Amino acid sequence: MCMNENKKVVTRFAPSPTGYMHVGGVRTALFAYAFARKMGGTFILRFEDTDKAREVEGSKEHIIESLKWIGIDWDEGPDIGGPHGPYIQSERLSHYKKYAQMLTDKGLAYADPYTEEEIEKFRKEAEEKKEPFLYRNHRPENPPAWDGSQPLRLKITNIKTSKWYDEVRGDLEAGPEALDDLILIKSDGYPTYNFAHIIDDLEMNVTHIVRADEFISSTPKFLAIYEALGIEAPKFVSLPPVMGADGKKKLGKRDGAKDILDYRNEGYLPEAFFNFLAFIGWNPGGEKEVYTKEEIISLFDIAKIHTGGGKFNEEKLLWFNKEHLKLQSDEAFINEITKRLPTDKQNTETISKIVPIVRDHISKWSDIETMIAAGDLDYYFEAPKISIEGLICPEKLRKGKDVSYNDVKKHLVYIIDTLENIAESDWNSEKIKEMMWEYASTEGRGIVLWAMRFALSGKEKSPDPFVLADILGKQETKNRIHNATLL
Ligand code: GLU
Repeated sequence: MCMNENKKVVTRFAPSPTGYMHVGGVRTALFAYAFARKMGGTFILRFEDTDKAREVEGSKEHIIESLKWIGIDWDEGPDIGGPHGPYIQSERLSHYKKYAQMLTDKGLAYADPYTEEEIEKFRKEAEEKKEPFLYRNHRPENPPAWDGSQPLRLKITNIKTSKWYDEVRGDLEAGPEALDDLILIKSDGYPTYNFAHIIDDLEMNVTHIVRADEFISSTPKFLAIYEALGIEAPKFVSLPPVMGADGKKKLGKRDGAKDILDYRNEGYLPEAFFNFLAFIGWNPGGEKEVYTKEEIISLFDIAKIHTGGGKFNEEKLLWFNKEHLKLQSDEAFINEITKRLPTDKQNTETISKIVPIVRDHISKWSDIETMIAAGDLDYYFEAPKISIEGLICPEKLRKGKDVSYNDVKKHLVYIIDTLENIAESDWNSEKIKEMMWEYASTEGRGIVLWAMRFALSGKEKSPDPFVLADILGKQETKNRIHNATLL
């Protein structure tokens, strides 16, 4: 079963279009993709749509959109074609038919003559005898000629313990009861997954099957098909399951196996999502966790895939997102802020000045909307409405001292005079702080700085007054503080 080691690596992602793209699916795609790219190989997208009853309208488009969003691209696929197309199983029925006929002609596959009721009866009998139900115990002696209306089954001739090697799990084996005369082509003319994926992988020259480990239990059946076809099996790379945040059970819809595009809509960065997914069941080693897609590809190594389940933890995702936001350029921030602001506030000069503030406050782009809705950006664009009460700092900051509006006015006037002495070229938060600090310390930092900050922002919570003054500029700062003395 040893493949030619020099063969060009070919991997594929082969989703069934039965719903939206969830975390487990896209993680499988990412590993298959990263390995192909690392090896300079080919990555194929293929739709496995032979179970027509489970197919969901729009699912193929949704899968394509999700993969593209996260930054996964393919060399061959249903939308771009390629030398081994078509890449949709329902369009490949003649391919499966050809191999099915070949096996039939060799006496390695046969038409199943039983009705569903008869098979159910066999199943019940086995159950009563407390034996596993095996179709091969009921194999007909003289099956009818296969005319396509009956299921076609593989005739397992070599009933034995199956042994194989998995690139992640190592040596695996399963007893003879894992082998049965499985269906290759169903009575509706469609192949089973078991058969179709093997033919496709063969025709598409797939060298490594990267998929979820839930397929391990079916591998003896796959091996029997490879054997009947007289072909080498590709290498098996079985990925550990994606577990919920507690690490105890597989991620289900309720605990976060949601639509990948929901994360896009919530404002996550595709780079962060890529990084986060790569670390579910894999780690290049060492402490570092924040990597770009290119770095992940260059470090990707099947030998470092874990055997145990990897946790899906939204808090960790948010952390990755925050880290990747730090790598985003100021221009990206300006764009994201601008497109969320009302048109009358889309002033690039002001927006560029508040980039550091926004950087400090958000974990994902959509948090900008929260800042806007809370009025936390308004005061950079227009003078706030302020009240006398607002200018007087809360009791705990005054340390019991009584403060009147007249006291506050006195401080504000002093501040204006002090700021006047700062040259435009020196206007920055450190300089402003340095000039104000001694006075504020003597008069009570809570009282003085609160009043200044409130005069500038009209908010109980906002960045400190030095930063605000820096962003607003000397003239606007003086105007706002002056206005606060006229109430
Ligand atoms: N169509 C299978 C699924 O969606 C893919 C399994 C495989 O990669 O072979 O689970």
